[in-house]
Amino acid sequence: MTGNFYSHLDLPSDLILSSCIHCGMCLQACPTYNLNYDELSSPRGRIRLIKYVAEGKLPITEKFSYEMNFCLDCQACETACPAGVKFGSLVEAARVQVEHSEFTSSLSRLIKKIVFRKVLPNFELLKFLSRLLRFYQKSFVRKFVENIFRLISPKLYNVNRLSPEISEYFSDEIFPERIYPVGEKKFTVLFPVGCLMNVMFAEENKDTVELLQKLGCEVIIPKNQTCCGSLAAHNGDLEQARAQAKKTIDNFSKYDFDYIISNSAGCGAFMKEYSHILANDEVYSQRAKSFSNKVKDITEFLYHNFDFSQFKASEKIDVTYHEACHLVHTQKITNEPKLIFQQIENVNLIPLNEATWCCGSAGIYNIVNYDSSMKILERKMKNINDTKAKIVLTGNPGCLGQIRYGTEKFNVDVEVVHPVTLLNKIIKDGVVK
Ligand code: SF4
Ligand code: SF4
Repeated sequence: MTGNFYSHLDLPSDLILSSCIHCGMCLQACPTYNLNYDELSSPRGRIRLIKYVAEGKLPITEKFSYEMNFCLDCQACETACPAGVKFGSLVEAARVQVEHSEFTSSLSRLIKKIVFRKVLPNFELLKFLSRLLRFYQKSFVRKFVENIFRLISPKLYNVNRLSPEISEYFSDEIFPERIYPVGEKKFTVLFPVGCLMNVMFAEENKDTVELLQKLGCEVIIPKNQTCCGSLAAHNGDLEQARAQAKKTIDNFSKYDFDYIISNSAGCGAFMKEYSHILANDEVYSQRAKSFSNKVKDITEFLYHNFDFSQFKASEKIDVTYHEACHLVHTQKITNEPKLIFQQIENVNLIPLNEATWCCGSAGIYNIVNYDSSMKILERKMKNINDTKAKIVLTGNPGCLGQIRYGTEKFNVDVEVVHPVTLLNKIIKDGVVK
């Protein structure tokens, strides 16, 4: 390589770039290519762009910046790719370069800095701001503000509607540091409450802990948790993501446990990546490796360690399952959640057409690329509607929020539920065969 147009040390890997054989097998799997059929909005086209800049044949342009951020980072192309190209790490490194280029405005940089460096890592500040947001969401002011937004800025109106409701309580405040199992102890597990899960999906966190407890797990909920860093990494701030990864490793390693159980596909996927993002760190590389080896998605852990055929739902329920990108494409977990529900009597699991197709949430994608996100969501909601299921299950906060929004926007009568919530309800109802 004779020189490149990248300015930051986090370069897209030459090895990954050269592993693409340009076969095009990924094109049909790519939601953004399927929106406009532009080669540059496909995985293969984006790889070419990243490679040309790496080879010094093309500077970073507005189009380059647009395509890196138009990508959902859903990694469906990785699943489709016969050559095993790790596209996710390419696009994340390319986003770092875009963040350090003239094509990111100072205002956008400032907002991201505040969100990813100040708010998300600081749970007390995040909870304070969430309380303010909940106050606003519950007050008459919301309707008033929405009406003004509707008149002056459709974008602000949509962002306002997209924001999931803040929970009535925050999960880290209701749990003690250690919860003991019901009956004989089978495992000791550590549960990260997550940043957004903690304030927006506290009920799902409560269901997770109750479920683990009932199945015989001692659950450790560490104090002083911080965000795992995944949102910073997906938005071009790998430095901050690494800092949060190190903090998380330091904090969790004070405890003795068998597994780290995540109920958020995005957080679980990223904590499994710690071993890669810290591979060159002299102090943390080994610790990150053993940390990542202990991370399990909740459905992965449950399926491999418990028998669900002993349970029966109290009444017949029709459910379907949307596969979160960070579960199916990044963690390659696809059968486990479905096999759990197939074991339970009275649960009728209806196959979802294009279940592994992104819902359009993708971190803050639905805010910054609202129109594209809604086209992708519309396709998802049509498929969900066609199943006639009463419940759609999905194991990621972004998907839960986005599909719940889709039920209103596209008028689809379905309840959007995390798998742990349904499992906890089935076990709570106490019907054992
Ligand atoms: S990313 Fe994989 S599937 Fe896509 S063109 Fe390259 S080698 Fe083919
Ligand atoms: S990550 Fe998703 S949106 Fe981006 S190129 Fe791959 S398939 Fe397309």
